[in-house]
Amino acid sequence: MGETVLQAYRFALDPTPEQEAALRSHCGGQRFAYNWGLARIRANLDQRSAEKAYGLDSDDLTPPLSWSAYSLRKDWNQAKSEVAPWWGENSKEAYSSGLANLATALGNWEASRNGRRKGRKLGFPRFKGKRAVLSCRFTTGSFGLVDADRRHVKLPRVGTVRTHESSRKLARHVERGTARIRSATVSYRSGRWFCSFSVEIQRQDPKPAQPGTAVGVDLGIKSLAVLSTGEVIANPKHLEVALRELRRLQRQAARRIGPDKRARRKPSRRWRTTQARISKLHARVANARQDGLHKLSTRLVRTYGAVVIEDLNVSGMLANRKLARHVAGVGMAELRRQIEYKAAWAGVHMHVADRWYPSSKTCSACGVVKAKLRLSERTFACEACGLVLDRDFNAAHNLAALVEHEYGASSASCVVTVNEPDGNPRKTTHLGAAGTATGRPGPQQLMLL
Ligand SMILES: [Zn+2]
Repeated sequence: MGETVLQAYRFALDPTPEQEAALRSHCGGQRFAYNWGLARIRANLDQRSAEKAYGLDSDDLTPPLSWSAYSLRKDWNQAKSEVAPWWGENSKEAYSSGLANLATALGNWEASRNGRRKGRKLGFPRFKGKRAVLSCRFTTGSFGLVDADRRHVKLPRVGTVRTHESSRKLARHVERGTARIRSATVSYRSGRWFCSFSVEIQRQDPKPAQPGTAVGVDLGIKSLAVLSTGEVIANPKHLEVALRELRRLQRQAARRIGPDKRARRKPSRRWRTTQARISKLHARVANARQDGLHKLSTRLVRTYGAVVIEDLNVSGMLANRKLARHVAGVGMAELRRQIEYKAAWAGVHMHVADRWYPSSKTCSACGVVKAKLRLSERTFACEACGLVLDRDFNAAHNLAALVEHEYGASSASCVVTVNEPDGNPRKTTHLGAAGTATGRPGPQQLMLL
């Protein structure tokens, strides 16, 4: 019936002090096993390279240690009573989780060294220090939701931990038999414990309400987004307040003594305090934004047959120091990621406009492209045809026009498609699953007329 996908469900936890101690202990066990395995592998590699330097034959070298998760686990089980006599305090999953992470890290390092892995070169895995992220994964044993009240999760050895919010969405799936929980990962981030379930789910997504229509989405700076339908989606309420507070704290951190690698200076305690507050606030900003983007992306794929967004140069944008712009850029990548998978589930087209497509600079009425449009100009005024329009709305409209042009989503008397501009690179990337786009005019065309 539905498509089976792997999805994560994350819940904030409200552990009791004893449970928190148990969670910390498990994460500590995970870190210990990781560092133990890493030290062994490194000693082995160092030994072998020293022997090679002495000119020993490859047959006489100390045999290499395998770093598969299986061998690491086997070696750990032989050594644990000696190196960690307290191992029985935690579920064995804690150590397996650390060793599995190590196996992955070493595998990635090797692949990167041999050129089998894309992206920047990876260094040899490093030891996890005291300030490393606390996390631990459970893949076997009894974990999952507690059926009775939808407010608790069950974890091996830690027990039944209360969740901060209701788990009903996942619970319903489990009750219907459309979900299978594969693993549970606990982690401590920004002052809070989380449990994230990796779940195999059979999805049954509704088809969009207006399959014949296309919508262009322009992620704004002042508002969350502007749609080609003329709809303006406001930023989540708490975002503005949090951003202002974030700016204040960043100024505060700049006044305090931070770390200096060259001078080997350690940061002051006061600087750390501010950094802790900043990271907590970062999490809040990200959550508020994430929440708004999820609501938007779900609504888009439930309504329209095709969604068009911009392909922004996100990494280039991150170099921009302006905070609001930065946040908008991050949001764009996240929105794209969300629409990508949600569109595939709902059978909606998703189009990403070419990076060089001038959606902001093009007039959505006559198609003339402006040479320059400052970021501060909030209104688009066309010198050729006299159109005056909100900047973001104009951009959203141009995006929607892209898919109507290429896929014939509309044959209605739309100004944009009638007046084909010269030399306009109307290139799109097609990413979505197959869907329908037939000749019903979308609301965005009616807006302009
Ligand atoms: Zn014009």
